[in-house]
Amino acid sequence: MPTYQEALELVLDRAAPLPARRVPLREALGRVAAETIRALRPVPPFTNSAMDGFALRAADGATAAPDRPVRLPVAGILSAGKPAAAPLPPGAAYRIMTGAVLPEGADTIVPVEEAAAGDGWVTLSAPPRRGAHIRLAGEDIPAGGEVVARGRILRPAELGVLAAIGCAEVPVHPQAVVAVITTGDELVDAGAEPGPGQIRDANIHSLCAQVRAAGARDLPFPRVADRPEAVAAAIVQALAAADVVLTNGGVSVGDFDYIKSVLEGLGAEQVFWRVAQKPGGPVGLWLLRGRLLFGIPGNPVAAMLVFEEYVRPALRRMMGLARLHRPERVGLLAAPWRKRPDGRLNFLRVVARPRGGTLEVTLTGPQGSGLLSSMTRANALALVPADTLELPAGAEVLLHLLDEEEDH
Ligand code: AMP
Ligand code: MG
Repeated sequence: MPTYQEALELVLDRAAPLPARRVPLREALGRVAAETIRALRPVPPFTNSAMDGFALRAADGATAAPDRPVRLPVAGILSAGKPAAAPLPPGAAYRIMTGAVLPEGADTIVPVEEAAAGDGWVTLSAPPRRGAHIRLAGEDIPAGGEVVARGRILRPAELGVLAAIGCAEVPVHPQAVVAVITTGDELVDAGAEPGPGQIRDANIHSLCAQVRAAGARDLPFPRVADRPEAVAAAIVQALAAADVVLTNGGVSVGDFDYIKSVLEGLGAEQVFWRVAQKPGGPVGLWLLRGRLLFGIPGNPVAAMLVFEEYVRPALRRMMGLARLHRPERVGLLAAPWRKRPDGRLNFLRVVARPRGGTLEVTLTGPQGSGLLSSMTRANALALVPADTLELPAGAEVLLHLLDEEEDH
């Protein structure tokens, strides 16, 4: 039986980045660039005005002063998107709008606020500074300049820059598609009234939401009864539709736990089954048709924890992300803790609060793996090594911070 660390390594070794694909910019938010992207042409593509004002030659206004203003005739109006038909005549100005192409011959923009404009004239009462308020071609991005490095996460700003250089489709590691199959004769939909012995299917919602929160695409499958043929049929369908398959429930040693035997029957290669941890011990990983298949236990806390600790890092690697793991911190336990020997790494659901330069760690309450409300209160998991049976108040514990972005 592998330890948590060993199992995690086995998972990550098999989670290769998905092959790059070109996607339209609209679908690229949050994806990771699979190639370094350079501008073919400069941005901006032409020299233009940064202000609404007048385009002129600075030399023509060099003698302007409040008591000796200089008057220049206005030879035309230039708006954005409509370059001048003719160069700037000697001794004249063009009225020009922000973003309009700087006309040939002009070397300066005088903003409208700094000039007095008359009918066909503009009057300057100070000498303009040559080159003022001009945006040069390529001053944002030169031709050949790198705009997005390979491995960079595409945020709104990157998408804007890619659009500006004309990269309408961008090569990325695509979103992983994750099929989620919950199993169990006792389960009914969240909106249904459970009959005797029945409970609502919580995990289809928590797991699918975890998939989406990880930036992947969830593919919820119709829930499956505890019958081997039904389980097999759903898995075969899921393999055809998804990059990763998550089954939930039925992976332990109960009489109606069919996941393991069904996968063996389908010829899946078992990477591991069961890990020395609590909760989430009866977790398995299989490979079939080049797909990763996680058998996730049904206990609601175990399910979420297994996703958080194994599936999420795997999906991140598949989507090309470099940082796979949540921040790790050391906190100080507020109250003593003990357990009976179980030979397992224990993941405790805790609240970690900053206090006096350290993190004070409080358990969310009882730690049963069915107590889903413990997950709603927790902002961290505390990892207690298998051979630690007892921790006094003030003891150091290793934390995985659940509400913070991956940092390594
Ligand atoms: P299993 O892993 O199928 O043996 O299930 C372990 C426990 O988790 C049982 O108490 C199940 O009723 C419960 N359980 C399994 N699947 C779900 C689910 N989708 N939502 C809520 N509880 C579940
Ligand atoms: Mg079950």
